[in-house]
Amino acid sequence: MSKKEKSKESNREGLSRRRFLGGALASLAGAGLYGQDKVFGTASSLGSNGPSNDGELKIKEFRTLGRTGFKVSDIGLGSGETTDPALLEAVLDAGINYIDTAENYVRGQVESTIGSVLKKRNRKSIFISTKLGLGRKVTKESIIKRANKCLERLQTDYIDCLMIHMPSTVEALKTEEFHSAVAELKTEGKVRFCGLSNHGSQWQEVPETMEKVCLAAAEDGRFDVALFVYNFMQRDMGEKILKAYKEKNIGTTLMKTNPAATYNRMKAGIDKMKEEGKKIPDFYNKLMDRLKARVDQAEAFKKEQGLTSFDQLRDAAIKFVLSHPGVHSACPTIGNYSQLEAYVALSGKKLEPKEAKMLSAYKSTYGQFYCRHACGECESRCPRGVPVNTIMRYNHYFEAQGREKTAMVKYAALQANKADNCLNCSGNCERACPYGVPIQGLLALAHQTLSLA
Ligand code: SF4
Ligand code: SF4
Repeated sequence: MSKKEKSKESNREGLSRRRFLGGALASLAGAGLYGQDKVFGTASSLGSNGPSNDGELKIKEFRTLGRTGFKVSDIGLGSGETTDPALLEAVLDAGINYIDTAENYVRGQVESTIGSVLKKRNRKSIFISTKLGLGRKVTKESIIKRANKCLERLQTDYIDCLMIHMPSTVEALKTEEFHSAVAELKTEGKVRFCGLSNHGSQWQEVPETMEKVCLAAAEDGRFDVALFVYNFMQRDMGEKILKAYKEKNIGTTLMKTNPAATYNRMKAGIDKMKEEGKKIPDFYNKLMDRLKARVDQAEAFKKEQGLTSFDQLRDAAIKFVLSHPGVHSACPTIGNYSQLEAYVALSGKKLEPKEAKMLSAYKSTYGQFYCRHACGECESRCPRGVPVNTIMRYNHYFEAQGREKTAMVKYAALQANKADNCLNCSGNCERACPYGVPIQGLLALAHQTLSLA
């Protein structure tokens, strides 16, 4: 057996073992004895429900993806960083059959990983959406060339849905070069459907909201599938889009479904480092001082709600979006087996009244600390052109999704004024925020987090 095969086998064994141990570990979790499984990880191996006790880790519900007619798993794969073929095999084995990817995820490596696995599978049983960003100098030929490269990496004859990646304006949505390229690719049988993704605010241009762009896509008529933001704290825009898409029978897939950044993950990580006698970097100590008030609040919230783990909050957040009948597939980032188990266990589940109450309590306690994804309303008020919403999204990648490296690399590459500008500023943005987010402080904190300043 080759080294690669051995690693795949051991990963599978680990997964099976956890499935087997699911019931026992769930009891430990219930007793508060099973904690974070990674120092700064995102998900512990158990959600509130844990893996199913029948030992079968499988998707339970499939929904029709709008006019495509394809039955997709209610939990899809957000493949932003999926470069492990063994993990992807496990994802597909669990019944997830909707994959959201993009040309630029890990510089094409994610598509290549998908390709290496896809060629061994029944192609027709899997729906793949990939995305191309449109620069200023795009031509029909360049789009066709890039789509053909996607096909090469994906090792397939066709892409189910080719999406425009984050068109920041309605004008960008209607880019004729893209649409004529898609028309030609469809004629050749290389692309089946057309789509778009949007999480709002693009500070490079005059931004238009996610709502405006996504609703324009419904009116345009050429878009069959969309990927956008909807969660229990950012409801209004998402619900308007879901309503419009239902009327036009457009497929709906979601990102940023769990807006809860659980600050005590960081505290748990630091406590663990202390326990293990490791040196705590000064940076974390400084950061913890600033977060202390929020961590205390988090502890109080946890006690009040009888939570044994903040993973229960994540689970409720996913169940919230799955409970909306207009949602076809929620696509969280799945970066490891723990996350896979936790998300698949949520398939087919609906939000229970006590969980709805918990989300509502979380929103009242933390709503003011959440810079709404896809917002950006305050950005025009910043005299220094700081891309507020983009920076807070990178911070979310770091704190809530455990994608520390990606977040820091993205922040370092950001071609705009960074949040160190916020330290000596009068804070116009904060006064413009309709949700009362103390954004100046959060930006300063995000700068520290993302740059280890
Ligand atoms: S600080 Fe407020 S207005 Fe600004 S992007 Fe965040 S939520 Fe929107
Ligand atoms: S704090 Fe000042 S510099 Fe920072 S985003 Fe707000 S207005 Fe701009």
